Amino acid sequence: MDSPADSWGRYPRTTARVVRVTDRHQPLPPGDASYLPYGNGRSYGDSCLNDGGVLLHTRGLDRFIAFDPATGELTCEAGTLLADILDLAVPQGWFLPVTPGTRFVTVGGAIANDVHGKNHHRSGTFGHHVRAFELLRSDGSRMRCTADENADWFAATIGGLGLTGLVTHATLQLRRIAGPWMVTESHRFGELSEFFALSAGSEADYEYTVAWIDCAATGASLGRGLFSRANHAPSRPSARPTPATRRLSVPLTPPVSMIGPLTLRAFNQFYYHRQHGKVAHAVTHYEPFFYPLDAIGGWNRLYGPRGFLQYQCVVPPGAAMDAMATLVRIIAAAGGGSFLAVLKQFGEQLSPGMLSFPRPGTTLALDFPFRGPTTLDLLNRLDDVVAEAGGAVYPAKDARMSGTRFRQYFPQWEAFSRYIDPRFSSSFWRRVES
Ligand SMILES: Cc1cc2nc3c(=O)[nH]c(=O)nc-3n(C[C@H](O)[C@H](O)[C@H](O)COP(=O)(O)OP(=O)(O)OC[C@H]3O[C@@H](n4cnc5c(N)ncnc54)[C@H](O)[C@@H]3O)c2cc1C
Repeated sequence: MDSPADSWGRYPRTTARVVRVTDRHQPLPPGDASYLPYGNGRSYGDSCLNDGGVLLHTRGLDRFIAFDPATGELTCEAGTLLADILDLAVPQGWFLPVTPGTRFVTVGGAIANDVHGKNHHRSGTFGHHVRAFELLRSDGSRMRCTADENADWFAATIGGLGLTGLVTHATLQLRRIAGPWMVTESHRFGELSEFFALSAGSEADYEYTVAWIDCAATGASLGRGLFSRANHAPSRPSARPTPATRRLSVPLTPPVSMIGPLTLRAFNQFYYHRQHGKVAHAVTHYEPFFYPLDAIGGWNRLYGPRGFLQYQCVVPPGAAMDAMATLVRIIAAAGGGSFLAVLKQFGEQLSPGMLSFPRPGTTLALDFPFRGPTTLDLLNRLDDVVAEAGGAVYPAKDARMSGTRFRQYFPQWEAFSRYIDPRFSSSFWRRVES
């Protein structure tokens, strides 16, 4: 029987038959409906949904298979959470080579979206650190994929949106750390051009860089924000560090969105001014640095029953400054953005996935409470700016881009589509391929 199936944005609402995969040695279940792997549902839109089809829930594939504490090479099942890898690896002096802004994603999900983190300029995407995986196809065949063996399947599956088959297990290369502490700096900046200067001046010496911008500010303050840069602490710090965060949670979905233009403006004002000086230094545990939102369980419910959309785009370097100013101006004028507008520079490294989203340039990500056609019209206007600038929108966050825009952003889509398993599909793919 079909049951409701949600992604993190809780839009769109779909139904699907859920099949739990718990044994990596078993073939896929029989049947006629289309399959889609489902990790931990931390994609925002419909790329992890398969309306009317089967969702292969992989969280039961959560076993560690091998870990070499001398080399940092880890093999685990694809439903293992990044949080579980951190629990295993950090005490032994290893860390994820690339991590998104939540640790509650699976290895399979991180591969299928070729996720990026705050260190893209140094370390590229998650896929750069995947040494091997097994791909199970609907005809029962299994393929070992590496950069040299079945290399085309390796490239199609990294960033392949779960459409090439089920990844059962994977081998990753972790990176060395001295301990769980981060040495961080936060710089307040007054306008967008300062963000570009701070980024350029930080890339050589800082492994992690990211900025928050106040998308409600207009006029001379357009694009003001806080720029954060950090490195892993080389040893146990002498100053007293900020400990790991305690978790709170949003127990219920409020009947209406708690996020409107007034709350947005007030929060952004408060956040921008909460740092007293122009520069703040801190030593902190890695959790509040990498995963501030994980401290509030179920925060996605604050957007109410209609859910929300995230919009993340990237614009190439030459066009980035003007395009970002235009995007922020449109968002500020519409008053429809969220608390969390994140700005980051991607580095020059080419992504290993055929359909990966990250590419050189500047990326902007923010949430929009879903208010029906008004929100969709606003995001279409942002698409016009991104397309004109030669950029792209991130499928992992998307629930509404048109097929025409998708094919423009990802011209390699046709070459990729030859690797799609004939039994696999998703709500996202059916929307953009037509
Ligand atoms: C708070 C928050 C912050 C985030 N920050 C970032 C960020 O900084 N950078 C970034 O890149 N992303 C970010 N994301 C998005 C998130 O990292 C990705 O959407 C990720 O892919 C979700 O993984 P998941 O395990 O939840 O998979 P799901 O969302 O369930 O699925 C994602 C895709 O993976 C496929 N898939 C899952 N398991 C397998 C498998 N075993 N085999 C084949 N395909 C599979 C699915 O079919 C689907 O296409 C963030 C999300 C949240 C909620």
